[in-house]
Amino acid sequence: MDKAQLMANFATYNRDGITARTVRTALDRGEAAEGGLAPGLYCGVSSGTSGNRGLYIITEAERYRWLGTILAKGLPDVWRRRHRVAVILPQNSALYRAGNQSRWLKLAFFDLRQGPASWKEALADFDPTVIIAPPKILRWLAENADLGRLRPQRLFAGAETLDPPDRRIVEAAFSLRLGQIYMATEGLFAISCSQGRLHLTEDFVRFEFEPVGDQLVTPIVTDFSRHFQLTCRYRMNDLLRLGGRGCPCGSPLQVVDAVEGRQDDVFWFGDRMVTPDVLRNAVLDCSPSITDFRIQQRLDGSVDLRLPSTVEPAVQKSALAALEGALHTAVPVQRCTPDTNEQTEGPILVRLASWNLTPEQLLSHKLRRVERLRS
Ligand SMILES: [Zn+2]
Repeated sequence: MDKAQLMANFATYNRDGITARTVRTALDRGEAAEGGLAPGLYCGVSSGTSGNRGLYIITEAERYRWLGTILAKGLPDVWRRRHRVAVILPQNSALYRAGNQSRWLKLAFFDLRQGPASWKEALADFDPTVIIAPPKILRWLAENADLGRLRPQRLFAGAETLDPPDRRIVEAAFSLRLGQIYMATEGLFAISCSQGRLHLTEDFVRFEFEPVGDQLVTPIVTDFSRHFQLTCRYRMNDLLRLGGRGCPCGSPLQVVDAVEGRQDDVFWFGDRMVTPDVLRNAVLDCSPSITDFRIQQRLDGSVDLRLPSTVEPAVQKSALAALEGALHTAVPVQRCTPDTNEQTEGPILVRLASWNLTPEQLLSHKLRRVERLRS
């Protein structure tokens, strides 16, 4: 099964035969309705791109188990230290509110959709010991927050691909190692250990791996912790680079070296493909001055590279050449830059496009630096 199949036949995948329409109606009624689906049942929606949002239903017991699992794996000292956990995500969720009901743990939710300027004071006042947020928000905090007041002890990135520049900037600003939580509507699939390595949750999820070239795999998951909604041999949309077995932390669970992006965002040229990590690395390796970028494949197959205007023109050109080189390993590449607009032989067009993203757009959209456009 995959997300499309789940959403097309939602009622057949849960015990009570609850339809997607019923869940959407409950969510549309507002947050108060989240627990109101039925006694003991909670529903939510993924923060995915619109039109491709996944729905989920969990039970009371499942949401506490989910929280307990995150705490046990991510904050092993939670039983002897009082943590204040700040969760910054696009929507509040029944999952996170479960954590707010105990004396030994304080959990505060900050709504990504309202923009960090609206809650950055409240976040500093909350004085979190742990922050869980998408990489772009952690980076925004690293570059904009008052780090004299905001002094977390643990940081976790989730909900988006973590690219190297974000990791570098966040870790330097907070003098902390950045952990990761790999979770989705479908469940909790990996979390960083005390040694900073990302371990799959093989203790309650069965993972099968489908090879996707270049030593990447797509996981197919069967989640034994879910009893109300079935997640059985569900094909995720992510590309993982698996590490070796074994870790200094002692966990035997499979290590993931990186979540490299989404399978949806593999670039296709006829029957040949280039994975997002190859394109990202080609651009980033050009210069340390590149700390943000966008690479998009359009519907006609052509590829746009966008870099912030702060990147020197010469660096922009070499990044374009590097991107071309990376694409060339898969296909013959045709080049067209704004200054020459010349096309040469070959089926693929690669061009520098303008950086037309406003700060609001950068923060409000789910970050996908490498993206295959669909419309
Ligand atoms: Zn470990």
